[in-house]
Amino acid sequence: MSPLRQLHDERALYYAQLSLSDLPPKLQWLAQMVASWRVGLGVLPDYLGLTPEQFTQLVDCYFPDQHLPAQAVSGSQLDFSRMLEREDLVNLLSQYRRSDDPENQWLISILVAGCLGQDHLWQDLGLWSRTQLSELLHDNFPALAAKNTQDMKWKKFLYKQLCEAEGLFLCRAPSCSVCVDYPKCYGPEV
Ligand code: SF4
Repeated sequence: MSPLRQLHDERALYYAQLSLSDLPPKLQWLAQMVASWRVGLGVLPDYLGLTPEQFTQLVDCYFPDQHLPAQAVSGSQLDFSRMLEREDLVNLLSQYRRSDDPENQWLISILVAGCLGQDHLWQDLGLWSRTQLSELLHDNFPALAAKNTQDMKWKKFLYKQLCEAEGLFLCRAPSCSVCVDYPKCYGPEV
């Protein structure tokens, strides 16, 4: 069995264990991310990218019996100092969040941490497919997600929103339909 396949099997077992805890169905994304993080998949760093206080709150609320470690098994150390847009991303997501509840606050921190990864956003977050990221964004940031009418890749879409908010137009082509970079911004994220 390949090492990746083995990790995926471990993740599935762990996910099943987490899903037996008091996790509401609308937070299954959290179980997916935690299961991936717990076996070393994705880029989420220590505390899942949350503050230690948020992490403790999350564990106490939903996984009190799981003995979750605070450290990332992957050893991921994200360098937020090179993320000049961190505050802008937080503001963008906060502006469009559906609610003010703690879960939404956690999600914003986790999404921003995931944006520091090099892979597709859903993979870096430890979700199991792009569909789950789409659902998560539509559920929690409906008005923002609805703006992605052309099904742009999610990280590209978020960064494009930042550019537009600043009045920047960094694209070289007049429109996406004639752009040589089209495959980088659209198309399957697998
Ligand atoms: S496809 Fe080209 S024009 Fe459209 S967002 Fe991407 S880089 Fe910009």
